[in-house]
Amino acid sequence: MQTLDNINFSGKRALIRVDFNVPMDKQYNITDDTRIRAALPTIQKVLKDGGSVVLMSHLGRPLKKLKEDGTVDVDKFTLKHIVTRLSALLGIEVLFLGDCIGADAMKYTATLKPGEVVLLENTRFHKEEEKGGEDFAKLLANHGEVYVNDAFGSAHRAHASTTIVANFFEKENKCFGYLMAAEVANATKVLKHPEHPFTAILGGAKVSDKLLIIENLLDIADNIIIGGGMAYTFFKAQGGAVGKSLVEEDRLELTREILRKATEKGVQFLLPQDSVIADAFDANANTDIQNNTHIPDGWMGLDIGSKAVQAFEEVIMHSKTILWNGPMGVFEMEKFRNGTKSIAEAVAKSTKEGAFSLVGGGDSVAAVNTFGLAEQVSYVSTGGGAMLEFFEGKTLPGVAALS
Ligand code: AMP
Repeated sequence: MQTLDNINFSGKRALIRVDFNVPMDKQYNITDDTRIRAALPTIQKVLKDGGSVVLMSHLGRPLKKLKEDGTVDVDKFTLKHIVTRLSALLGIEVLFLGDCIGADAMKYTATLKPGEVVLLENTRFHKEEEKGGEDFAKLLANHGEVYVNDAFGSAHRAHASTTIVANFFEKENKCFGYLMAAEVANATKVLKHPEHPFTAILGGAKVSDKLLIIENLLDIADNIIIGGGMAYTFFKAQGGAVGKSLVEEDRLELTREILRKATEKGVQFLLPQDSVIADAFDANANTDIQNNTHIPDGWMGLDIGSKAVQAFEEVIMHSKTILWNGPMGVFEMEKFRNGTKSIAEAVAKSTKEGAFSLVGGGDSVAAVNTFGLAEQVSYVSTGGGAMLEFFEGKTLPGVAALS
């Protein structure tokens, strides 16, 4: 497979799919530009070679979130909001083109000069984008001589700009961008070539969201640690009293099946022994500590307790590969933060002692950032849903299109 470093972009136009789907406030000020920054090395490589750049991205879901009168909310979903910040970060003026396949856009990019960067309008203004339309993808392909995909966050979608467009470029003229290559390499290292013992830490609200990941990891990991709301479905299924903790009644049998499989496969499956319990889902609730089999009526587990923390730390410290997805409790509230914080610190400590650690999936990434530990783990994925599908063992269409 072709790599970005092997292509000399001198005199060439690169069509780069980036993920500029950034959060903004009501005045359309960008509140977190991580995704824009993450795309810079790839853009800069093309410019340094003497090439020109055509950027395309989606922003939100404009065709799903129409205005009250049924029309597209262009003001809200235009990528024009990105141009000023992108220009400032790149240190050159980026030109914005008001459509991604219009005749004017085509004419403009056909004569781009080395060093120029243009940003196309939101690809999702066209319904063919999410449908993976061939004709639409072919038009997009006209914007570049080389196609670079650096939008790992969208790699699980077989959309026109993330997947289908690759069909219109020869093998030697398409590749991953730096961000996408790093995401794929790190996830592959963990899932395909982990150094053992390999410990997966899974948390978050619901077991139903993590089922496929657990199933896949049962064949790969030595230890699976479970925390967060999903632990209570496991305890309830085994006859424990869990009060009014989060339980998915329709998944009780399934959790028993998971525990059976773990034993069969020789995977050490660690459930939290105790919890910080509360009498309400509230930042100011009364709290106590209780074993997970004896949570009183009217109380709920909102964080893992100190016995659980200690047992989990022990396993984490003896691991050589660590994958972490999902918080151990309701870390957004101070009183239920300690479990997630302690696990983040243990992962950082184990990393310092030589383990390879990958943190991926929305809330655990937010957690390591909150605790200032992002620099102390081996890799923090920007991938969200794409990374989760990778952990589930699925082939991502955006990755397959270039492989
Ligand atoms: P997820 O998106 O599935 O990774 O879940 C993350 C969310 O799970 C966070 O917002 C946490 O507050 C929530 N969460 C974690 N532990 C619990 C718990 N014990 N009870 C209810 N919600 C929880």
